[in-house]
Amino acid sequence: MRVFLQTAARLAAACLAILAVSGGVTSRAGAEELAKDLFGSKRLPAALPAKSYGFYSKGCFAGGVAIAADGPTWQAMRLSRNRRWGHPTLIALIERLSREAVADGWPGLLVGDISQPRGGPMLTGHASHQIGLDADIWFNPMPDARLSAAERETVSAVSMIRKNGLLVDEKVWTPAHARLLKRAARYPQVERILVHPGIKKKLCDTVTGDRGWLNKVRPFWGHDYHFHIRIGCQPGSTGCKSQASTGTGTGCDKSLAWWFTEEPWRPNKNPDAPKARDLMKLSSLPKACSGVLAAPAPQSEAAVTYRGKAPPAAVASAPRPPQDAASVGIQANAYLPSADVVIPLPEARPE
Ligand SMILES: [Zn+2]
Repeated sequence: MRVFLQTAARLAAACLAILAVSGGVTSRAGAEELAKDLFGSKRLPAALPAKSYGFYSKGCFAGGVAIAADGPTWQAMRLSRNRRWGHPTLIALIERLSREAVADGWPGLLVGDISQPRGGPMLTGHASHQIGLDADIWFNPMPDARLSAAERETVSAVSMIRKNGLLVDEKVWTPAHARLLKRAARYPQVERILVHPGIKKKLCDTVTGDRGWLNKVRPFWGHDYHFHIRIGCQPGSTGCKSQASTGTGTGCDKSLAWWFTEEPWRPNKNPDAPKARDLMKLSSLPKACSGVLAAPAPQSEAAVTYRGKAPPAAVASAPRPPQDAASVGIQANAYLPSADVVIPLPEARPE
């Protein structure tokens, strides 16, 4: 009997050790791990059909593909961040924008952050970019030369806004920048483009002829060094929560005038308050995100790098689990835009 008990105790200890190594103990018994740590440590996407779950600022996605670090009409920046991942529709759209922008006379795109391989909250930066439908494009035109990996970490983005002001810096802003935004805004998949209010004002003041596309270009904090493209929830992503509509009209109205008052620029009263990403647990996200996190990875990054078409779905290195994320119960998440702000805001105010 004693031998049996000792054996049982050893077995239990061994199981605990295995759980501890796999991180099971901390997430089950102790404090639940932060979602940003879980999603921030994934190097490859979930090898499942492409689906977004939750909201732009509270969710995750499966079936991500990477934009290649280099293409004929783009270069991806800050490669070390591993944020070149998105829904295949978004990656296809960025590549298309790069080609058509070049046809318009723009030298090519510098592609900034898209999403982590499986989305989710990030360790640093961005409240949104969580469901593979957001991408940042730099306002710097692509240089003629291919940048080295080291240069892609250090080259600075250029602000389009004057120092200590809210207006566009005429030394750097060009009509070609406006053409690039117009090209992006006119794609039907694009629901919003976020820019600094000074850029929106510049467009409102100068765009002639077709002004309908200005509806999608919305002012937001930051976004003086880059613009942010957001596409809508894609077909098949039943767990994806749509954002509020931009309504009708150009937005060159009092909603823009508000940005030129003192109110949006008041110092943060509580700068040390934790950010949403510092609090979000896996249980804060849609249930399907557990399946996304647990899903097998593809064989390699190359296997899921977009090459003009999405890679086959069956690229997992391990057999699929019996249930994929789609069949795990999906709940609409609790995110609601704050109701106390009159101006339509697409996401929480970033730090
Ligand atoms: Zn962004």
